[in-house]
Amino acid sequence: MARRRAPKGKAQSRGYRRAQKRAAKAHKKAARQRTDDTRKWAKKVARDFDAIAVEDFRPKFLARSTMARKAADAAIGATKRALVEMGRKHGRDVRLVDPAYTTMDCGDCGARAKHRLPLSERTYTCTACGVSRPRDKNSARVMLVRAGLDPDGADGARPPAPPGRKAA
Ligand SMILES: [Zn+2]
Repeated sequence: MARRRAPKGKAQSRGYRRAQKRAAKAHKKAARQRTDDTRKWAKKVARDFDAIAVEDFRPKFLARSTMARKAADAAIGATKRALVEMGRKHGRDVRLVDPAYTTMDCGDCGARAKHRLPLSERTYTCTACGVSRPRDKNSARVMLVRAGLDPDGADGARPPAPPGRKAA
């Protein structure tokens, strides 16, 4: 489309309009695929787990952060919505969790780290109780505790890889 765009004030060429149509089609397809992946993933999670704790974040906040493109690409907001909907539909216990400090709090003793962990640091080590865990796992525990669920009961359970990410 960029290559075919007519200068300002001039009508767009047939080639441009054709490219425009093609782009619109591709975008629509991507959007449909995303919705489909999202719903399938949400269904799998809702089927496999009785209780689900979800971060109640504002997608708008992510859109303003440096992760904006990634967030939009993975359709995080839509994924969360689908998960909550699917969970409720299947009669699951869906609990929304305040997302503040989930990466800084300790999932064991609840102490809050003084400093934000840089994203490159993948292991969370608590300065208060000394526990050391993979960063995401610690955050998951924090969320379960906040939701009033028992993180030990969820240990070993692992939700399927979210859409947009290749299964490991
Ligand atoms: Zn701790």
